[in-house]
Amino acid sequence: MRGSRPAIMEPNVPKAPVTWRVFGLELQLGEPEALVRERACRELGIDPARVRGFRLVRKALDARKKNGERRLRFVLCADIVVDAGFRSARLARAERSGTVRRAPPAADLDPRVVHPSWRAHPGAHVAVVGSGPAGLFAAIVLARGGVRVTIVDRGSVLERRGSELVAFHRTRTPNPESNLLYGEGGAGTYSDGKIYTRVDDPLEVPILEEIVACGAKPDILYDSRAHIGTDRLHFILPKLRARMAELGVRFAWNTRVDGIVHDHGRVRALQTSAGDIAVDAVVFAPGHSARDTWAALAEQGVAFEAKPFQLGVRIEHPQELVTRGQFGDGPEVASLGAASYGLVSRAAGGVPATHSFCMCPGGRIVASVSEHGYLCTNGMSNSTHSSRYANAALVTTFTPAEFGNGPFDGVAFQRALEQRFFDAGGGDYHAPAQRASDFFAGRASRGEMRTSFGFGVVPARVDELVPELLRDALRRALTQFERSITGFAGDDGILVGLESRSSGPVRMPRDFKTRRARGFVNFMPVGEGAGFAGGIMSAALDGAHSALALLEHGLID
Ligand SMILES: Cc1cc2nc3c(=O)[nH]c(=O)nc-3n(C[C@H](O)[C@H](O)[C@H](O)COP(=O)(O)OP(=O)(O)OC[C@H]3O[C@@H](n4cnc5c(N)ncnc54)[C@H](O)[C@@H]3O)c2cc1C
Repeated sequence: MRGSRPAIMEPNVPKAPVTWRVFGLELQLGEPEALVRERACRELGIDPARVRGFRLVRKALDARKKNGERRLRFVLCADIVVDAGFRSARLARAERSGTVRRAPPAADLDPRVVHPSWRAHPGAHVAVVGSGPAGLFAAIVLARGGVRVTIVDRGSVLERRGSELVAFHRTRTPNPESNLLYGEGGAGTYSDGKIYTRVDDPLEVPILEEIVACGAKPDILYDSRAHIGTDRLHFILPKLRARMAELGVRFAWNTRVDGIVHDHGRVRALQTSAGDIAVDAVVFAPGHSARDTWAALAEQGVAFEAKPFQLGVRIEHPQELVTRGQFGDGPEVASLGAASYGLVSRAAGGVPATHSFCMCPGGRIVASVSEHGYLCTNGMSNSTHSSRYANAALVTTFTPAEFGNGPFDGVAFQRALEQRFFDAGGGDYHAPAQRASDFFAGRASRGEMRTSFGFGVVPARVDELVPELLRDALRRALTQFERSITGFAGDDGILVGLESRSSGPVRMPRDFKTRRARGFVNFMPVGEGAGFAGGIMSAALDGAHSALALLEHGLID
């Protein structure tokens, strides 16, 4: 408390402790995290011995250059719990300057805590379609609220899903029911497992705590670039499944939903490949690739509309090039691991904006394929980010103005391009590839191109395979990104395509408050496949919030 007046405890104030959120705390590389508590106490002007609770909220590496100089440091934010009556001159000053403010109230995944007037529905049965993050976290909330839940997924349980993927690589023929997109954990099961968002939703913490309880490292609770990695996800998911089974959740694997039985806007049953399943309500979370399921439901009167989606290619570099470009080559860099990036080029002169997305440091490019004959890429990595390669999607938003206003015009557009890339790769999941320098110059690439893509790449004119609008946007972006990371747009940058499912091309209109699908009283479209999420955490959040809404607004009218 150097330089501050002693703290005063005010008499006659309620005893409930108060949580203050302290922003702008700093740690130099190599300094222990324990120092943050000390620094936060100093900011508040409180004796550390009087602190009732402390937690890190966010830790971000600042690697920006200032006046041409890079000063690597961590910037942190922390919550400090103190007695309600605590005041100090420092706290008053920090509050005025905005470096300290009251922390938002904690949130919970248990509906009995969120809605104290919660009324149980004994015997009610909700089917959750899809075991991706949206479906899983919807199911957790419902089960904690005492509802009987069955998760229905067309894909396999994790232990079986792995061998099905190996078979895809061996035979070069995907299993349309269980693959990199379908099966336990959904599309993110073979991913980098990035779980940060920019939405700052209060449910993020309880969701992350659930994942930590299943074996994730506790630093995901505050790391601004938190990622889990495929290897660790495969350790976590079975534990999550066991915890859910303890809550009474049942799982129907390898069971495809083909339609619904409904009357007057009420779904009575799911029609599935294993027969009908009677339901009181449905949470529908089929992910961004359930093209056949969307079409079947549209035939049965469920509303769909076209929405903008992202289209692009993946770019891969040697990880070393990215790490040097982001961190420089000082001796302290080794402790930071593989660098990532997030790059944006703004729209100008009729050329749309482009940004990097789903960056996988030390990762590899994978074929995120669910239908034979269509090629689509994505990226994954393990928890250690140990591969020699760094990849990311470079994407531009395409709107119905480019592909049509019909509900499934975006799907048709995606399909046509994915087929074009499949054919250009030779029809066996080799991916068309072109050096960034050649893409920029509009010429074929020569010589061997080494990438992490397991099916292999073939040299192709990616600049001619993509729509003109995307080509122009990517060329502009490459010029700009080269200024941030030297070599980004050179011979070492390899473009591999197509990246067409970074987000879904349809939305299922739903009521803002009750989240029920238009025209239905007990059918809730959620997650990425319904057009309300784009990523693991945002899908989990949408699932959890939707389940809370389902319970709040009445499971059965
Ligand atoms: C390779 C890859 C890497 C990714 N990396 C990241 C990342 O690092 N960070 C991030 O935030 N996001 C990442 N994503 C995106 C993320 O995985 C998705 O945004 C997220 O999984 C969407 O969640 P969801 O629950 O809405 O749907 P999904 O996870 O897609 O789950 C949908 C589930 O529904 C099932 N299903 C579909 N149709 C039917 C049917 N008819 N009957 C029964 N079941 C059905 C599927 O089998 C699937 O399991 C990645 C995606 C891929 C493919």
